[in-house]
Amino acid sequence: MKFHILTLFPEMVMQGLTTSIIGRAVERGLLEIETVNIRDYSAEKHKKVDDYPYGGGAGMVMQAQPVYDAWKSVVDKIGYRPRTVYLTPQGGVFHQEAAKEFALEKDLILLCGHYEGIDERVLEEITTDYVSIGDYVLTGGELAAMVVADAVSRMVPGVLSNQESGTAESFEGNLLEYPQYSRPREWNGREVPAVLLSGDHAKVDEWRREQSILRTKERRPDLLERADLTEKEKIRFQIGKSEKLF
Ligand code: SAM
Repeated sequence: MKFHILTLFPEMVMQGLTTSIIGRAVERGLLEIETVNIRDYSAEKHKKVDDYPYGGGAGMVMQAQPVYDAWKSVVDKIGYRPRTVYLTPQGGVFHQEAAKEFALEKDLILLCGHYEGIDERVLEEITTDYVSIGDYVLTGGELAAMVVADAVSRMVPGVLSNQESGTAESFEGNLLEYPQYSRPREWNGREVPAVLLSGDHAKVDEWRREQSILRTKERRPDLLERADLTEKEKIRFQIGKSEKLF
């Protein structure tokens, strides 16, 4: 899979995406990450990419022409219009299912805005998905693009080793993962739950499932409405559609 990240700050994006698991996947040829500097496509002699907003108001707006030409350079290179994600606080909030869906693409363009955002006309022309990473406003789309690229990359087959992938990560079946422990057995007066030392795999699985449900109920009750629970579990943990979740 190849990410094409359209940005005014390519170094920032590359620094964030070339270490650890993602960096190794790039080295192994499972992922490609290319940045396109929008400023390189400015037709203005001082390489300006922003201008005042029509109608007045604070801040500057990224102009349509350099953004479009940067996007078009990718389209011309790969020979088709790929899914193009504009990172924006005005998008739907990113989640694990979206990460899995984007991971099926051969090419994915991530467009990072800056200042007050991007001229609406070019967004209408090129954007297929409007994605936010949460209900807060960042100074630019770069951190958001890195978050999306990281979460999507983990879903590309082969990027995670078996050891890293695990089977029951948070958000699988709309549940959070159970608590994890490692050596030593006792730390700061706190013991690892005895069941994890029992060697009884069925009991461990049962305990983990229970912890997943309890943790989700406590921390993310909003997820539980969509969680894959058996009727028995719903009764046992007192989870019902009529339950007031907030
Ligand atoms: N004026 C815009 C608004 O109120 O919707 C906010 C612009 S923000 C200061 C600059 C850029 O940061 C945006 O164009 C977008 O690319 C990025 N950005 C800010 N918050 C974001 C978020 N929560 N998720 C994704 N991208 C975000």
